[in-house]
Amino acid sequence: MVMRHPNIVIAISIVLASAILAIAVWVLAQMHDDALRRAQDSVFNVSLLVERDVSRNLEIYDLSLRAVMEGLKQPGVQDLPPAMRQLLLFDGSAGAKDMGSIFVLDEAGDIKFDSQASPPRRINLADREYFKVQRDSPDVGLYVSRPFLPKIAGKEVSIALSRRISRPDGSFGGVVVGTMRLSYFRGLFADMNLGPGGSMALMLSDGTMLMRRPYDPKIIGRNLKGTANYSRFLLQPSGDFFGTAAIDGVERWYAFRHIDMYPLILDVALSTRDIYVEWRRRAWIIGSLIGALDVTIIALAILFSQQLRQRRAAEEELRVLARTDGLTGLNNRRIFEQDLDEEWGRAQRHAWPLSMLLIDVDSFKGFNDLYGHSAGDAALIEVARCITNNLRRPGDTAARYGGEEFAVLLPDTDEAGAMNLAEQIRAAIQEREVRHVASSHHVLTVSIGIACTSGQIFATARELINAADEALYEAKDAGRNRTVAYGTATQAPGGDTGVPGYLTPEFSPHIYR
Ligand code: GH3
Ligand code: MG
Ligand code: MG
Repeated sequence: MVMRHPNIVIAISIVLASAILAIAVWVLAQMHDDALRRAQDSVFNVSLLVERDVSRNLEIYDLSLRAVMEGLKQPGVQDLPPAMRQLLLFDGSAGAKDMGSIFVLDEAGDIKFDSQASPPRRINLADREYFKVQRDSPDVGLYVSRPFLPKIAGKEVSIALSRRISRPDGSFGGVVVGTMRLSYFRGLFADMNLGPGGSMALMLSDGTMLMRRPYDPKIIGRNLKGTANYSRFLLQPSGDFFGTAAIDGVERWYAFRHIDMYPLILDVALSTRDIYVEWRRRAWIIGSLIGALDVTIIALAILFSQQLRQRRAAEEELRVLARTDGLTGLNNRRIFEQDLDEEWGRAQRHAWPLSMLLIDVDSFKGFNDLYGHSAGDAALIEVARCITNNLRRPGDTAARYGGEEFAVLLPDTDEAGAMNLAEQIRAAIQEREVRHVASSHHVLTVSIGIACTSGQIFATARELINAADEALYEAKDAGRNRTVAYGTATQAPGGDTGVPGYLTPEFSPHIYR
């Protein structure tokens, strides 16, 4: 199978190479998915961690604000000595790192109590956004402000957490407010491991940016309303997606969550580049190895199939050599006998007639002697050509039977047909007019003996050959350059004398024998 179709080797190698490639692609796809899954886990965990930290700190801070409010309700607080009052109103939490001051503002916005100064600093904060919000709407509860620069000490961008002080009759009695430096979030963000392209952001629910990593002071306070990512943050309490940041145009995998109980949104994102950087490195290695392997497999298969093809060609050449005669290119005697056996069997089975011709060059010894052996060879080639030129039917085969003897096998041909063909061949050779002065015809001629199974009974193929040989002998005997069918009257030489029969004086056998 493979011997007969060398291309199958290439086809198999291509299938094999494709299978290996398909497996590699599948493995790489899995690895690609895994990389994303790991990134998803990692951003989810980071976002959870940060959310916990933020909400816990805000809660503690809020508790401090509530404690101040509780303290204010205690009778006589206003009249306590300042040091005692400070102790009662402000617990230690307000002093924690990144926490600013806690103030109690009166209804006019003046600082009434100050966690960090006694007597309080004389500043009016009525123009602050949180003051106005608390003054104008009684039900805000804990309000987280937009970032601002505090008017006092430090001047670090901060946000304020505020609660309204309501008088017993519900009217506005001032505000308790605590500031919180944004550096707290910056520090928190910086502690997280996010890769070089990672980002984190904390924003107010209205889209106001509070802190972002990578840090850029210009971004703080900017409103992200209308950006694609912010719009997606609003759709669910938490989620994740691939998105591109409006701020830096980097594509990232985002995990976001609304911080429980607070009007804050947190997002944590890993850049797509970072997520797949390791995968890409491995894909290159695996891809090149598999590519090289596939190329090798196919190259080897091509090489192998080429060798198969060469071997096949060599075998074919040998086969042809083994069956042909080197001088004339006709089948050799062995093949003729094989063909004859085959055709003999077929003719017997189907009761078809089978004819054969034996063709012998006349006085060829003399031709050789006169013109030399090479000229003799050339004449034989010419004779062979005349024979094959006259074979028309596909089953007819010619062979070189011996030195200057040729045989023609004519399956399914009766004696008349054989005679016709023989005469054509004989005439054709004569018409070549190859000079042969030693011959009485002055040109090269042949004698032909015909044997045919129709009308004769031959027991074996060998008997058919012998009959053709006998007819040939008769033709020679009758003067050469003529055709004789076995068991019939001898035929006239083609157009030479126009006289039927062979016993014309000119061609009498003794001339050549
Ligand atoms: P006849 O008419 O009775 O057939 O006479 P003839 O000379 O042809 O008879 P013979 O069989 O005695 O001679 C055949 C000669 O053919 C002998 C040989 O020199 C020559 N011959 C046989 N094979 C070849 C060949 O391959 N090349 C050449 N040049 N001559 C060959
Ligand atoms: Mg001979
Ligand atoms: Mg001869």
